[in-house]
Amino acid sequence: MPRGCYPRPSARERFDAKWKADDASGCWLWTAAIDIGGYGSFSPTRVCTARAHRYAWELHNGPIPEGMLLDHVCRVRRCVNPAHLRLATHRQNSIENSESIPAMNAQKTACDHGHPFTPENTYLWHGRRNGLPRLVRKCRACEAAKDRRRRARHRADAARSAAPSTEN
Ligand SMILES: [Zn+2]
Ligand SMILES: [Zn+2]
Repeated sequence: MPRGCYPRPSARERFDAKWKADDASGCWLWTAAIDIGGYGSFSPTRVCTARAHRYAWELHNGPIPEGMLLDHVCRVRRCVNPAHLRLATHRQNSIENSESIPAMNAQKTACDHGHPFTPENTYLWHGRRNGLPRLVRKCRACEAAKDRRRRARHRADAARSAAPSTEN
């Protein structure tokens, strides 16, 4: 038989042979090629390569809508469990799923005041450290509290300066 003419298993079969479920997390861990970004890499056909998690999602849910990205809720990039993926806009994704978040999350799971660094309670702020631009994680709960204190102080200042002075 000439080279290349043997029947190939279907893309679906090949896909399913390339992940292993992790019992603890429920993640379906990709065991084949991992791309430079840490995502599983899969070739549905000889000529095209896709990110494995995108392929997994589309297999179960149909095409990813225009302009939407997939976000790993479990934060495990090589996970291909469609239940661990959700659609996100580009903006959501760049805020919540930035390159640096997994690394930062690994160091610390709560802010200095004990608020959990969940995606909902975290935002990224472009700060600087040692003169270099750097993304800093901010706790929404703490920032909101700071904001309230700042506003209360301003109100108190305004009230003081507006009140007629009774001192001589
Ligand atoms: Zn997962
Ligand atoms: Zn906090």
